[in-house]
Amino acid sequence: TPLTIIITVIGVIAIVALVTVAVLQNRPVPQKYKYGIVLDAGSSHTALYIYEWPAEKDNNTGRVEQKHSCKVKGKGISSYAAEPEKAGVSLTECMREAEMQVPSRRHQETPLYLGATAGMRLLNIENREASDKVFEAVEKALQGFPFSYQGARILSGQEEGAFGWVTVNYLDDQTTGALDLGGASTQISFVPHEYDISESPSNSVAFRLYGNDYNLYTHSFLCYGKDQVLRMALAHQTQSGPVTMSDPCFHPGYSVTRNYNALYDSPCVSERKPKEAPLNFTHTGVGNFFQCQEVVKTLFNFTSCKYSRCSFNGIFQPPLQGSFGAFSAYYFVMNFLNLTDSSIPLETVKANLANYCETPWNQIKQQHPKVKEKYLAEYCFSGTYIVTLLTEGYNFTKETFSKIKFIKEIKGSDAGWTLGYMLNLTNMIPAEAPDSPPLPHA
Ligand code: AMP
Repeated sequence: TPLTIIITVIGVIAIVALVTVAVLQNRPVPQKYKYGIVLDAGSSHTALYIYEWPAEKDNNTGRVEQKHSCKVKGKGISSYAAEPEKAGVSLTECMREAEMQVPSRRHQETPLYLGATAGMRLLNIENREASDKVFEAVEKALQGFPFSYQGARILSGQEEGAFGWVTVNYLDDQTTGALDLGGASTQISFVPHEYDISESPSNSVAFRLYGNDYNLYTHSFLCYGKDQVLRMALAHQTQSGPVTMSDPCFHPGYSVTRNYNALYDSPCVSERKPKEAPLNFTHTGVGNFFQCQEVVKTLFNFTSCKYSRCSFNGIFQPPLQGSFGAFSAYYFVMNFLNLTDSSIPLETVKANLANYCETPWNQIKQQHPKVKEKYLAEYCFSGTYIVTLLTEGYNFTKETFSKIKFIKEIKGSDAGWTLGYMLNLTNMIPAEAPDSPPLPHA
């Protein structure tokens, strides 16, 4: 009868309601999270990182995780010098993604930082006004989003090195040095042996992490990122203003036309521009690792050192200590070359590189049809540079080379300066530097 049906329906609804209440009561209280956003405005591209941590445990180190990352389409912000507005617009897509990723009720309290590195350091040297305009445009764009905007600025090389080290050591269990290779600069940071006191204050940073004090050695070499160092290598080989240049760092059969003005348009090489040169030159490959190493070595100055020991260019460096994580372009290049495995001896790395550089360009292109041709053409050079920088520049030996791990990420977070930077600015590194002030977000 209709009455039985109604009673049955009411009964079912009541049971469902009771079960729901019971389930809800037993459900754990939903975890509250906090968020932070950092934009890494590198020389070749910008990347956005969203970090997340449990709201109640702000000060517990080891709790912050990378929730999301977004690669901004197009080039780095420094490439928009002539049309700064576009630098701001370029960030919109990733910022919209961030709006979706961070729960709306958290937007207002979520700090948003932009840090620019060596691409902007160089633009700032070359054209201060253009660099300021880029920042104005970026600032305007970022302020249009509902987050708590904390400013955009150029990081010093020292900060870039130190925060890269903080990231690696926040995530890793044992103290690890950090090697970072960007497009325009490269950083080395590690904790030297206690008895190797620092001879150069500008290379020392003090940190407190997990309750321990660390005296960190760090240095950033401007112009020694992989794109700028390639310019220096090409500049070195075109000093006489030739029409054709034969380059051991590129594959046999490789041949492209390059423009002199474009090559020398960077503070890293502008002073060395040949007085008399044609408009273009033909850049051809020879493919010889050992000769390429000789070219790369000329880019390091080993003659003057006013300290007890130096890496190169008169820069103090204490003896290497402990294991190292090498990331960014170190990883991209060594990963492409299948050389990230730490058990591969240095001599084998060199032999593989020699073999790779010798391979004709046509064959390389055939073997890697999906790799961007610009990257593909440069792996011989970049691999040679990496090995030469590590051994001749930083003094890694065949014994210590095996202590370098080529890494992209640690426990789900990308290795780089951004996490360390955010931890510092949100006071999540229990840092109390004994004799150097905390690094401010000025
Ligand atoms: P930056 O933009 O300063 O952080 O530098 C990143 C460097 O890594 C630039 O030299 C890029 O060209 C380079 N890079 C990024 N992705 C790759 C890749 N897949 N293979 C080779 N180099 C890369």
